[in-house]
Amino acid sequence: MYATKLASLLKQVKPEKEIYIFYTDIRAYGKGFEEYYKKAQTMGIKYIRGKVAELEENPENKKVILRAEDTLSRQVIESEFDLVVLSTGLQLSNSSEKIINFLKLTKSSDGFLQEAHPKYKPVDTNIEGVFIAGTAQGPKDIPDTVAQASAAAARSMVSLAQKEFQVDPMLAYVHPDKCDGCGDCLNVCPKDAIVMNKETGKAEVLEALCIGCGACLPSCSKEALDFHGYTNDQMYAAIQGVLDQKKENETRIIIFADDTCTYRVADAVGIRKMKYSEDTRIIRVPSSSRISPNLMLYAFKEGADAIILGDCVKKSSRFPWSKEMTEKSLEIVNEKLKSAGIDGRRVVFSEFSAGALNYFLNIVNGMAENLKQYERIKETQRKEL
Ligand code: SF4
Ligand code: SF4
Repeated sequence: MYATKLASLLKQVKPEKEIYIFYTDIRAYGKGFEEYYKKAQTMGIKYIRGKVAELEENPENKKVILRAEDTLSRQVIESEFDLVVLSTGLQLSNSSEKIINFLKLTKSSDGFLQEAHPKYKPVDTNIEGVFIAGTAQGPKDIPDTVAQASAAAARSMVSLAQKEFQVDPMLAYVHPDKCDGCGDCLNVCPKDAIVMNKETGKAEVLEALCIGCGACLPSCSKEALDFHGYTNDQMYAAIQGVLDQKKENETRIIIFADDTCTYRVADAVGIRKMKYSEDTRIIRVPSSSRISPNLMLYAFKEGADAIILGDCVKKSSRFPWSKEMTEKSLEIVNEKLKSAGIDGRRVVFSEFSAGALNYFLNIVNGMAENLKQYERIKETQRKEL
């Protein structure tokens, strides 16, 4: 649209100029954008779908010879131009990197700052009290930037109006009596929220920095790291609870559903009364990375036949590191399952977006179908875990 805008301005002051815009795709998505694009065409600006293949200087008149293919008419274009302008994509400014590193903000896969949630928290970041607006989040025009900046200002006013700042209670914490100060958890937190207390010699979670992903918990083999609201004891009890009623001829698939995406999609599936395997039991978790190998192995030991770990799609996740960390835990579980002779395909990780109801059904029902092909897990195998 910026190429269209600049071409229109030039055409207004110099209507005699012939202007071409070469493009691969045009999306005039905003209010009035389509009309603006059409108006540019009526002004005489020519749009050619096709990449420019070659540019060359004409040694006689110093003009630029341009060669391109019009992929709509399938004709090769060769023409001379006074000026050729490269319409480049936008990138986050280099100086933003300093702030990103300092505040430990998260970037999305396109290199711009990531919002806490694209639908529910579009101007929040994953750090409480830090908001984003404008092209820090991605390319956008002035009206969208103004709207977003107003929203960010309003959100920051809410924070400033509070006499005390409240942190989310769902955070990691350390049981000092279980912590032996081994330091295994120290470099795991993407927000550097875990430190060693020099006086006590035990690890500590800095609550103001912790954003409650739970990804640090698998790093502590002594289970000294814990999580408010989803404590180790509560997780073991929840697993026990969903397996208690299992009858001998039944199977159980446990879905550890992250709070933001997987649980919502499962909820939506339920509300629409869409059918998925009755053998499924869902346990809500802050993120899939909160589930330690110990918890997964405990589930198998106690009677689970398959586990699905669900989390948000990385590019829209509050915790984009979750997938990578969950996969590390899966490697450990797979090794253990293998040594007990249990098929490793019984544990899968999958990314879900909140609207992907059919995809959710495919994953769950697919696992239920697969279980029919696998040999049942023997009690002796479960005991080996
Ligand atoms: S919390 Fe666990 S991993 Fe961290 S220092 Fe203590 S015992 Fe070690
Ligand atoms: S829960 Fe996440 S943010 Fe908090 S200390 Fe653990 S890894 Fe860091």
